[in-house]
Amino acid sequence: MPDNDQLHRFIIENTRVRGELVHLSASWKAVLERYDYPKNVQRVLGEAFAACALLSATIKFEGSLILQIRGDGPLHLLVVQATSEGTLRGLARWGADVPESNLQDIFGNGSMVITIEPPKGEPYQGIIALEGEHIQDAIENYFKQSEQLNTRLWLAANENNCTGFLLQELPESAEETQQSNLGEDHNDWQHAEALGNTISNEELLSLSTKEILHRLFHENDIRLFEPTPLSFRCSCSSERIDKMIISLGLNEARDIIIEQGKIQVDCEFCNAQYNYDSIDVENLFTFTTPPDNSNTQH
Ligand SMILES: [Zn+2]
Repeated sequence: MPDNDQLHRFIIENTRVRGELVHLSASWKAVLERYDYPKNVQRVLGEAFAACALLSATIKFEGSLILQIRGDGPLHLLVVQATSEGTLRGLARWGADVPESNLQDIFGNGSMVITIEPPKGEPYQGIIALEGEHIQDAIENYFKQSEQLNTRLWLAANENNCTGFLLQELPESAEETQQSNLGEDHNDWQHAEALGNTISNEELLSLSTKEILHRLFHENDIRLFEPTPLSFRCSCSSERIDKMIISLGLNEARDIIIEQGKIQVDCEFCNAQYNYDSIDVENLFTFTTPPDNSNTQH
């Protein structure tokens, strides 16, 4: 049985190969409960969901990491987010039937954007071409471009679980370079990668972390670190929606109330619904806005 909603980091002893394994079950079901995703949308979203969890453990960051794909194809929007607190959320939007095919056929012309939003300061963005068969192909290219580290990912998803498996070759120390046993070291990476390629989606989805590591690396000593728990949580809140409405300005907010009777904001990630009537709106601006920002009459 796969471990629930945990990310394990590990090192293959006496090599420069590290790895991660993430199994998502309850958090993944929380995503699926909110929309009735067709099978092929579900698979791609699940792969991206697992990839986002792996990336959030690989890239050191505070705040949130967002993996977003936009395109003009049948699946036109996919967003998954992981925070440094171990929470995940995600959604996908599609128009036409999504084929079981490569990224180009699924997303059309588009790109993958990885954004790191720190609690303060400017966000960092990396843009990745949507090339290859699967999400992992695009992400592997991202590592090639940005980190120059050999990184491989294996991702699998069904209606119950999604699993991500990552192997990465760590840079060698200056000392190691001098000793120039590079050839031997690199063999470790190639060997680990070849073993990684033997794991099936079936195995990724049905075996526990320890079973997968034993199945692949039983000839090596593996140092397995304490797992990180992960869970579904949406970061929307009434405070955030308040701020959004305040940013519209009082006149605009009043206009919407006149036209529609209320202001309704739905969170696309968790389906939470936020409703404001005219009294809520007046209160919002009376108590929270400095007088020079609105036309409130006193
Ligand atoms: Zn929400």
